[in-house]
Amino acid sequence: MTTTLDLSQRPNLPQGPKSLAGMPLPVLKAELEAMGLDAKKASMRAKQISRWSQYFGATGFEDMTDIGKDLRAELAQRFTLARPEIADHQVSKDGTQKWLARFAPGVEGESVYIPGVGMSGGALCVSSQVGCTLNCTFCHTGTQALVRNLTAQEITAQVMIARDALGEWPSSTEDRRLTNIVFMGMGEPLYNLDNVAAAIDTICDGDGISIGRRRVTVSTAGVAPKLQELGERTNAMLAISLHATNDDLRNELVPINRKYDLKTLFEAIRAYPGSGNSRRVTFEYVMLKGINDTPAEARDLVRLLRGVPAKINLIPFNPWPGSPYECSDWETIEAFAEIVNQAGYASPIRTPRGRDIAAACGQLRSDSVKKSAAEKRREALAAAEAAPGA
Ligand code: SAH
Repeated sequence: MTTTLDLSQRPNLPQGPKSLAGMPLPVLKAELEAMGLDAKKASMRAKQISRWSQYFGATGFEDMTDIGKDLRAELAQRFTLARPEIADHQVSKDGTQKWLARFAPGVEGESVYIPGVGMSGGALCVSSQVGCTLNCTFCHTGTQALVRNLTAQEITAQVMIARDALGEWPSSTEDRRLTNIVFMGMGEPLYNLDNVAAAIDTICDGDGISIGRRRVTVSTAGVAPKLQELGERTNAMLAISLHATNDDLRNELVPINRKYDLKTLFEAIRAYPGSGNSRRVTFEYVMLKGINDTPAEARDLVRLLRGVPAKINLIPFNPWPGSPYECSDWETIEAFAEIVNQAGYASPIRTPRGRDIAAACGQLRSDSVKKSAAEKRREALAAAEAAPGA
């Protein structure tokens, strides 16, 4: 008799014990129940472990003094509190830092810490997917196929990696260097909403990393039918990557506009839960030379935003190797900003940060590639052959 090993079912081969760091509470509770704890105990222990992990930044179980010795030993046998491997870490002259986290073999995503954002300590730009399905023509990530959605734990782990580097454990409320989270890294957060929402729950948990929901911004290219759900589930601030004021141009720059046009998108924006003068929607507008940067377009933008509590971020285009656009001239950007300011909108021009380490908006692109099924099978086969007892 021959037994066949169905390798197609196991593309992610075991990589050692599972980490509990940054795991959403309900998932952590389920892990503990699977260990044999009853529901009540699992719930209590999950809260304790998550506090040690996400409030104190613990990297081992031995310090968890409110958990009995035997249970600690068992936890240490089954699990770790390890962060994803850091495949690359760069620090810019201006203090910007960029990490490339390896979540699994061939699954790598970037996060960028930008110090001194506004009045606050600093923002971490996190990725929600590796690669992207959207193909916005000016975005480097858009040239990369989707590898996969990140899990909630992998999204939270990006915050934990940054806090490790910034020395921000335990979570304090004063003088934090990392105060804001923006979902403006790789990927479209609204195509991974379940994981994004669960990650926000963990990041905002007052017993853990404890970042206020008003300091979390989710940026979307315009997945209109998901806006309501985003607001209801996360209470996060909304940012819209607008970049054009008419459908013809937006269809070209942000192709998802062909599915959800400006009218549909603005209906959803106007209905965004909780938006108002104290919770304005941010509109991102990348300045592309000769494409979307005329004074007439600045006036169109003002008209389009009428009645929407809005902030406008003008982003100088950041070129990447082979990119088909140039950044608008500085005078052109200033003239555009002037028109928008005159209309009463705050419209800061985002000075590019971390240019020396290619950490600026839209420059994020990991070397992760989507593997073909054949490649996955070959790898699985090789690993199975190398495994002891195989
Ligand atoms: N998919 C989401 C989040 C990722 S993009 C979204 O589209 O909003 C984060 C921001 O960077 C978006 O506003 C995007 O339009 C902008 N961006 C992408 N490439 C850029 C580039 N080369 N220069 C400047 N901004 C860019």
